[in-house]
This record gives sequence, C-alpha cells and structure tokens, in this order.
Amino acid sequence: METLKIGVSGVRGIIGDSLTPDLVLDLSKAFGTYLKGGKVVVGTDSRTSREMLKYSVFAGLLSMGCEVIDVGIVPTPTVQLMVKEFQADGGVIVTASHNPHEWNGLKFVRSDGIFLNAVEGEEMLTFFREKKFKPVLWDQIKRIKKNKSASNLHLTRILCQVDVPLIKKKKFKVVVDNCNGAGYLMAPKLLFELGCEVEVLNNDPNIPFARVPEPRPENLTELCQKVVDYKAKIGFAQDPDADRLALIDENGNPLPEDYTLALVADYILKTYEKRAKGYQKMLVTNLSTTQAVDDVANRYGAKVIRTKVGEVNVAEEMKHTKAIIGGEGNGGVMFPQIGWSRDSLAGMALVLEYLAFSGKKISELAAEIPRYYMVKKKTSYETQKAAYEAVDILKERYQDQKLDLTEGLKILGDKNWVHIRVSNTEPIIRVVCEAASEAEANERCDRFIIEVDEVLKTLA
Ligand code: MG
Repeated sequence: METLKIGVSGVRGIIGDSLTPDLVLDLSKAFGTYLKGGKVVVGTDSRTSREMLKYSVFAGLLSMGCEVIDVGIVPTPTVQLMVKEFQADGGVIVTASHNPHEWNGLKFVRSDGIFLNAVEGEEMLTFFREKKFKPVLWDQIKRIKKNKSASNLHLTRILCQVDVPLIKKKKFKVVVDNCNGAGYLMAPKLLFELGCEVEVLNNDPNIPFARVPEPRPENLTELCQKVVDYKAKIGFAQDPDADRLALIDENGNPLPEDYTLALVADYILKTYEKRAKGYQKMLVTNLSTTQAVDDVANRYGAKVIRTKVGEVNVAEEMKHTKAIIGGEGNGGVMFPQIGWSRDSLAGMALVLEYLAFSGKKISELAAEIPRYYMVKKKTSYETQKAAYEAVDILKERYQDQKLDLTEGLKILGDKNWVHIRVSNTEPIIRVVCEAASEAEANERCDRFIIEVDEVLKTLA
C-alpha cells in the first residue's frame, strides 16, 4: 500500500516508513521557495513525532530565507487564524489530523489563512520535485520567534463572536474529550470562559491518543458514559488537531457526525438577520455532506452551494460568495466571522449558544434536524491511475441518471444519493451513501463497493 500521500490538502505518511525528516526538510524548502522567503507561522498537533518534524520544517524554511513564528502545540484553525493575525505570508501545520498516532504530515496555509488550493499546491510541489533550491547566505538567515499568545488570540476571536453572558447564565455541565490532542489547552479554557462546569477527558498532549482519534460515534464510548455519569447537558469530542467536532446528547447518545454542521447552520441561519454584516444567507458545503443541510437551509430560504471535498474548496467558495456559514459533514464547522477554517472550538461555542438561546436540550434540537442515514465505506486500490479510471467507467455506466460530476461521481436520487470519489488524503476510494433508512443506505453502499471492486479488478 502507498502510505505516503502527497495531495491537495497536504502531505501525510507513517513515521519511520514513508514520512521522514529528510522529506519534510525538502517539502519545507519547497514551501519557502514558493513563498519567496517571508514570514511563516508554524504549529503542531501533539503527536510524538511533532518535534522531530518541526525542526525539519524550521531548517527548511530558514534555509530559504523565511522568518519563522513558532506557536507550539495548537489546533490547526489557530495556525490558520494566526497567519492573518501576524500578517504572515504562510503557515505550516505539522499534523496528520484524524489519522492514528504513527502517522504525521504537513498542511500548508497561504496568507489569507486558507490552505493551498490544487493549483497552488501543485506549484509548490513542482519546487519539491525539481529540488533546485537556492539557500540564502549566512547573513540572510532569519530568526525563529516563539509566540505563546496564539491560543489566547484565537479564544478572544471566538468569545467576541458569541453571546457570552447568555451562555454563562446557563452554567452548562459539559464533558469534553480532547483525544490528548492539540485542543488540550484551549477547549477547557474556552468552556471555562463560557461559564461551564467542565469535565475533561484525555487531556495530556505528551502521551499517545487514548482512543481511535477520528471522532466517530464508535470511538467515543468513554465520553458517552461520562456524559451520563456526570449528568452533563452535552459532550464534545475533538480530533487530534481540533478542527472536527462531534456531539453527544444529554442521554449519552452520540449524534451522527454531520449533525454538528446541520445544528450550527440551523442556528446561524435562524439568527441571520441579527448577524448579517455583509455576509450572504448562504451555506457552503461539500458534495459528501448530508442532505439535511439542504432541508435546514430551505427553512430560511438560504441557498446551498456544493463544492469538491476538501476544506480549501469550501473555504474558497465561502470567501468568494461571502456565505455566512459553511463546513463539512465530518464535524467541521466554518464560521467566517471567526475564520475560514474548520474550527471545533468555534463549533462548541456556537452549539452552546444555540442551547442557551433555544432553552432546549441538545437531543430536542437534534430531533428537529431531518433524519437521514449515511453510510461511508472505502476500498483500497493498487494504483491511483486505476482508481480514477474505475470512477470514469462508473460515470459512463450511470450517465442516464441525475449526476453531479463536480468531483468523482455523485448519483442523485429522490431523498438519497451516492458519492464515489478517490480520496485526496489516503490511498482509497470512498463510497458515501445517504438514504431515508439505515438498511437502504447500507444496502446501496455495499452494492456500490462491490461494483467499484469489480471494476478495479478488471483494471489490475
Ligand atoms: Mg483534523
């Protein structure tokens, strides 16, 4: 299996196998070359390999004449916000997001705090492949500045955008599971500032992840139990770089991960008139996000725009259209009044504000979201070329159905859809099905996985 993934949303690989300090050094030289020197904010998540890779990033950037601002272990959205805050030319985040501990990687951020898009990423990777780096002379090497204010600046930005007194009055009991990840400092601090009684799980960034890091329901059993034991109003779970947020209701039931965006969108669009300030009544999300967000948007006459999968695609569309809300169905809420980045902390604050504003329980708010069942499966492939060919064959096969070909193949039915695409981050083909019942979603997803495998076999 190809474990090194170099793609639009960054680079990921397994430490000691495909992702090495040498590789990271060259990638960082390439990014420094792409930026023509300049100021770069660097942050990491909590993985054991963070320092080994961070110093390679520093060396690569400094050798190309960059100035480095080291913000330490912080959430991915914090680095994105700090690039703008410090008027930097770019940012690097050392993280493999929701992948297991043995993985790590890099994400590259441009001056507006959004990740490099496909064209920019390709330009940067051309420098990486050609390796014609021009190191600066000794007297042009700049310094590394440590900055410890990033977390607080990010927190302030969130607190300025939510109704703190309204939330504080409720004195919510909450449990948060930080997965020993980069949200360890900010999540408890934010919840404390919002007047919550907080029980914190898995909050030591110096030990490996205590659970499977992807914040999916099956990985959150400890948190679900704690919510019940503690009689909390809500449970929050983050992934290791704190851009994805999952919710647990007051009965200890995990909500489907796409409910995070649907709930926040419901609240933001409901209160659009009081917050508009130049933003459009519009929701931007990717092709693989639940149709429940369309139903929610319809309640308020808001337009929905669907993009390719990948945070950068949603962020660029939000920036372009000035949409008031957006994000991804994997628990990634993007609220532009805080930043064009998926931000689990902003998500927590907005969900708590919705609870306070509505006076309802989280299970009651969730019950107002139309229920669909989404099943996500994946299948591995031998070569990327075969993977894309397989999707093309299926496009032909289903051409007389209602399709969206923005990315891969999306077949649109009545209250159901299937989206088949080659992943940007892992060597797999993803098949996502949504339908009105779990059985139907499962059956359709299995059927399409078998079909994809059969096509792949003919190409082997
Ligand atoms: Mg993540």
